[in-house]
Amino acid sequence: MSRDEGFELDLQQQRVLFGAGRVDDVPAEVDALGLRAVVLIATASAKGAADQLSERLGTQVVARVHEVVQHVPTADVTSTTEVATTAGADGIVTVGGGSATGLGKAVAVGAGLPLVAIPTTYAGSEATTVYGVTGEHKRTARDVRALPRVVVYDAELTTGMPRRLTATSGLNALAHCVEALYAPGANPVTDLLAQEGARQLAVSLPVAVEAPPGSETALTARGEALYGTYLAGWSMEQAGTALHHTLCHVIGGTYRVDHGEVHAVLLPYVAAYNAHAAPAALALVALALGAPDAVLGLRSLAERLDAPTDLASIGLPADVLDEVAERAVAAVGARNPRPPDAPSLRRLLDDAYAGRPPGTY
Ligand code: NAD
Repeated sequence: MSRDEGFELDLQQQRVLFGAGRVDDVPAEVDALGLRAVVLIATASAKGAADQLSERLGTQVVARVHEVVQHVPTADVTSTTEVATTAGADGIVTVGGGSATGLGKAVAVGAGLPLVAIPTTYAGSEATTVYGVTGEHKRTARDVRALPRVVVYDAELTTGMPRRLTATSGLNALAHCVEALYAPGANPVTDLLAQEGARQLAVSLPVAVEAPPGSETALTARGEALYGTYLAGWSMEQAGTALHHTLCHVIGGTYRVDHGEVHAVLLPYVAAYNAHAAPAALALVALALGAPDAVLGLRSLAERLDAPTDLASIGLPADVLDEVAERAVAAVGARNPRPPDAPSLRRLLDDAYAGRPPGTY
């Protein structure tokens, strides 16, 4: 959308801290919010950071939750909300990837508690009011209470991220940028956020996986990737999503396939699917990637990062592709620049299943 056509932004208040070592500022941020009794939600991968934080917060931590399952099962939301209520909590702090943030968001909405998020991957959930909960199927909703009041991006918490998670969660962030460029709410401001987010991610992710772990180069690249992640989440929050995110939610939420891995595989295929319907947006993606073409650029970035490039190897059963196509068509509604139909989506899924180069659909 051009500036002349007019556009809308719906900005919410969120305090964001960037920088290596900034996790040390969390106790002061918790105090500044007036919180005296927080539930600390942290995945096993973040146990060290969570233990240190818990020690510094002392009696301000009234309960800890370690069980974090991807796609946020309804039962976990219920049990964690109960923990918060029983402990008389007045806030929630999460340390971990999108799943820890997601559990914190769902509990924040249910219990009406403020949330402080310390992300350790590039999923980007902390920058959005969107939260998902999974019963039989995954359902997402928007609620301003899900938006963390404070986010602390500390690259030191991401230096131990394995190569595969770096690649897949980084491509998840890149997918936010790509779809923000053609989703229904795209506007000149979200275009800026998405282009710069994509550029930061495209430059930093290869360095993050290739530089010696623990080196200054790796730490700097991971800081840049977190910055790209933030821009990605923010652009998606404002612009919305389309076919790619819908497919990922249908696949990840129904068949329990890893969220970031589905993003990594599907991104070039959906770009190919939308190539003729959103040429200007995809030209901006190509520019941000420094590639002659968005589809080629996305696929070659995934390959350089050693991300998965086919749905078969990440555990999607072969016999569900028809159902995925039909459910995605029903779920995406009018949000995609090209209204999808089940037969053409099925061709996309066939290619993605086998990992064939993206074609024309
Ligand atoms: P995740 O949070 O599920 O983490 C994957 C695994 O990596 C877990 O075992 C976790 O413990 C581990 N891990 C996390 N950080 C690590 C680190 N620094 N080092 C080593 N291991 C680490 O994965 P994710 O990709 O971050 O998040 C995916 C989830 O986030 C999905 O449920 C998805 O729907 C959600 N999400 C939501 C939004 C939104 O806006 N609401 C946006 C993106 C993703």
